[in-house]
Amino acid sequence: MQFETLAIHDGQTPDPQTGSVTVPIFQTSTFEREDLSHRREFFYSRIGNPTRQALESTLALLENGRFGLAFASGAAATMAALQVLRPGDHIVSALDIYGGTYRIFEQLLRPWGIDISYADNEDVESYSACIVPETRLIWLESPSNPLLRLSDIREIASIARERGILVAVDNTFASPYFQRPLELGADIAVHSTTKYLGGHSDVIGGAVVINDPALHTAIKNYQAAAGAIPGPWDCWLIMRGIKTLKIRMKEHEANALHLAQLLEGHPAVERVWYPGLPSHPQHELAKRQMSGFSGMLTIALKGGLPAVELLLAKLKLFALADSLGGVESLVASPAKMTLGALSVEERTKRGCSDNLVRMSVGLEHAGDLEADLLTALSALKQSDTHAPEGT
Ligand SMILES: *Cc1c(COP(=O)(O)O)cnc(C)c1O
Repeated sequence: MQFETLAIHDGQTPDPQTGSVTVPIFQTSTFEREDLSHRREFFYSRIGNPTRQALESTLALLENGRFGLAFASGAAATMAALQVLRPGDHIVSALDIYGGTYRIFEQLLRPWGIDISYADNEDVESYSACIVPETRLIWLESPSNPLLRLSDIREIASIARERGILVAVDNTFASPYFQRPLELGADIAVHSTTKYLGGHSDVIGGAVVINDPALHTAIKNYQAAAGAIPGPWDCWLIMRGIKTLKIRMKEHEANALHLAQLLEGHPAVERVWYPGLPSHPQHELAKRQMSGFSGMLTIALKGGLPAVELLLAKLKLFALADSLGGVESLVASPAKMTLGALSVEERTKRGCSDNLVRMSVGLEHAGDLEADLLTALSALKQSDTHAPEGT
């Protein structure tokens, strides 16, 4: 079956008892046992809940994996995937990653005796160069936040496999509609379902999808023991979002491509990063490992931080907010927001300058988004001309 059919049907068959075509929200903490010696499939909702189980099987199918596990947030899913590590182990991570993942590596893992080296996102050689005998995991995020840098998942996974190293890919920016890391040879796909999978900016959640049964058992045991599970209502909201993932992603992409092309030639814009533009340094890789380019784009403005502040103030349809992947367009300053906790030096290493603006392009009419952007950008140009010399 094709992706959109799976997204609507699989793991989500009508309720056998009532015929309800949507999976019921089993808002219960516990389930009555038949007697002392017989336990039903479900007995306590931290360990398992039918609504969560439906979401988990849908997640697995979308990533074309065997096992899906749902978590209370993308950060909780990231922590769960990292449970494959033990003190003394070493991670090679892409440098340009979600700020919260970097915080997990540096503030939670390092004090537990896990060492982390950072490789250049797009340079396959630099991953090999970071590998040491203790390396147990390579962590990728592709496309990355905020500069939409890609990592060649197939190449890096084949280097890792030869050395018995696991590869995890944070697939949040692409969504499983446009990229499926397990098909490219990765061992673990991670999502913040808060973003495109939920898709409506109304729920926080995360997911891990794997093929290996032993890895599944380990991460599932961690899920049951540590307990960062999503409630049934949140699971239901994410399933509801997933049913329209295909049509949303196609429209996010069409709108983002339209704006990326518009912005690329604009006099107030220094540079545009969007994997769907031929000017993106890894456009060919994007075409190879993704079936589309998603709805995230980042621009650098000519006027530095003052220009960013002015643009953010002038935009009316794009809300200034930290998240992404919802139906409404959002805009963010990576230097001041998502990577704001990093030192200037750390940000500079990642190429995250003050003049960046990250856009999560929503599902509004492309013409309305275009008009909003052009109006806001024209205010920039005017303020440039009126600025006194030397400022
Ligand atoms: C948002 C995000 C996360 C963290 O997910 P939460 O749901 O906020 O915990 C991880 N990775 C990426 C790429 C993200 O955008």
